Amino acid sequence: MSAAIYSEVLHLELASITAFVFNLILCIMMFALDPDAGEKNERFTTVAFVVLVGNLISGVCYFIRMTGVHALPDRFMLIVRLMPWICNMYLTYYFERYIEAFIGIKETRANRVIRTVNQIIVATITVIAIGYFIYRALTSDGTNLTYVPSWIRVMLGFVAELYFLFLSAFYFIRYNATLNRRAFITGTIAFVVTIGGVILELVNKSGILFNYAGAVLGLYMFYFGVETPDYRKLTATIEELKVAREAAEQANRSKSEFLANMSHEIRTPINAVLGMNEMILRESDNDKIISYARNVENSGKNLLTIINDILDFSKIEAGHMEIIENNYKLSKLINDLNSMIGFRAEKKGLEFDVFVDKELPEELYGDEVRIRQIVVNLLTNAVKYTPEGNVSLAVEGRYRGDDNSEKAINIADDEVLLTFAVSDTGIGIRDEDKDKLFSQFERVDMDRTRSIEGTGLGLAITYDLTAMMGGRIDLESSYGIGSTFTVRIPQKIISKTPIGEYHTDVPEPEETEKYKVSFTAPDARILVVDDTALNLLVFKELLKKTEVQIDTAKSAGEAVRLTMDTVYDVIFMDQRMPHTDGIQAMNMIRAQHGGSNQETPIICLTADAVSGARERYIAAGFVDYLTKPVESDKLETMLRQYLPQSKVITA
Ligand code: ADP
Repeated sequence: MSAAIYSEVLHLELASITAFVFNLILCIMMFALDPDAGEKNERFTTVAFVVLVGNLISGVCYFIRMTGVHALPDRFMLIVRLMPWICNMYLTYYFERYIEAFIGIKETRANRVIRTVNQIIVATITVIAIGYFIYRALTSDGTNLTYVPSWIRVMLGFVAELYFLFLSAFYFIRYNATLNRRAFITGTIAFVVTIGGVILELVNKSGILFNYAGAVLGLYMFYFGVETPDYRKLTATIEELKVAREAAEQANRSKSEFLANMSHEIRTPINAVLGMNEMILRESDNDKIISYARNVENSGKNLLTIINDILDFSKIEAGHMEIIENNYKLSKLINDLNSMIGFRAEKKGLEFDVFVDKELPEELYGDEVRIRQIVVNLLTNAVKYTPEGNVSLAVEGRYRGDDNSEKAINIADDEVLLTFAVSDTGIGIRDEDKDKLFSQFERVDMDRTRSIEGTGLGLAITYDLTAMMGGRIDLESSYGIGSTFTVRIPQKIISKTPIGEYHTDVPEPEETEKYKVSFTAPDARILVVDDTALNLLVFKELLKKTEVQIDTAKSAGEAVRLTMDTVYDVIFMDQRMPHTDGIQAMNMIRAQHGGSNQETPIICLTADAVSGARERYIAAGFVDYLTKPVESDKLETMLRQYLPQSKVITA
């Protein structure tokens, strides 16, 4: 046995020896940097360790075999032949386990079954190897003991190894979408290198030991790519943040849903309160009682405004708020603002001025309802937070190409940047509070504003609505002197005809006239469906003077029974009912065989006051819709519109 053989064998093992050294360094580095690793990293550590041991055993066995140390007993030499195959199998098995963790495969039944199969394979092959060794050791006559038949060689050296590698590759390809870019690229390259080494080893005839070199190179790539402690901590933190964000978003959605539901639910009892109160106002001749009832009415309406704010706000939060655009007349909008606020300002002893640029185009396209809501909000605040002096509204326009400082807002050629400036000589806002104002539920300067009713939602809604329409809101204020809120919203011009001289006479406060019925229809018969008995009562009372015959149903089932035989002129249907809702009930009435009301106009009664609701209900098949709390004059007008005109007698 010459030194030349040793050196040649060592030469063939050079890749393997180098790999071993690097592997050792990797293991030391891993333990030094991150002694308490998590489960995923434990699998990586296991692979690194298995590669180290496997490499050592294979290297030694190879060396013994190739240098032909005949002095060793044959039984030992048989072990030397079998060991590298076993090592390779364990290497690929643990590699597959690591890939599972690397990808983060979920615990599914199929995966659990596969894992059990894998363990059985490993156990079987180990048993076959040990069994074969024992069998040979016991039965051999001493000659040719190291011979291993090819089926055992294939079994030990190929089957399990290739199976685990293909399984890893399958997992990798199947689930790679779940990996981030870095993990994917690192993983792919490391994977190819590792598998490449093993496959090269299986097919190579040169005698050079490749597989462990490939494996160790792959390990390094995995380690520096995705397994360093810093990187793992970072990804774990990102994962935690993701979970936390999802939880927060879910909580926020639940809150918005809760608010929407709650405001919806509150409208139903208010319907009864305001309806009954309306009856008191109609029936009583006692001034004192009428004045009490007026107070109930005012507070009820205030409560409704607050609920509407909450509803709006939760819709905005949940992303359900829609901007509904239509043609509208600017002068009408300004008139409405004037009449809504002028009276209030006057009542508080404030002067209220409106300035309108007479060149403004009269007909525009946009969401008039929301613009009105925004400006009313600002004007109401101005009145609320101004103890004395005046409140003013200035309406102006800017056009594309005008020299203006509002460059942040894009104005198209056919648009006007509608500007509403609401100024007051009120309490003003401190500089440090200015940013907080537009946040939800935020009320500032509580020392001075505590006694003024408010939820802190108004400006948040105003801000969001303005932004939804592509506009902007700005605030200038001097504490103790007054504030100016300026809203700018681009609106499409429909007609360039100027609005002209605008006369702003504050209208006289409406005389609270005693109720007078607008029509009677004693021959008409209608059906009202609502699951709340009190609402049915209110409905009947509100229409009492019209003399219309009113049947009531407390459920969809009852309504369907009644509509079988009785012909109704109009049906009012509550939308939200338990079991069968209004839309389903309507469809059932429409589909009745031989039913008497297939053509009857059905009007939706709903507490859903959100914009877009009307379109939704009409699309569902209702002819119209009425929001709760039902206002008596609206109810009468609507009923009169849908009743057969021959049955209507006007007063
Ligand atoms: P609310 O009026 O219901 O409290 P808002 O969101 O409309 O809620 O307003 C938030 C806060 O901004 C108010 O509580 C008030 O402190 C302040 N504020 C709003 N408008 C004015 C104003 N014109 N003058 C002074 N303070 C104002």
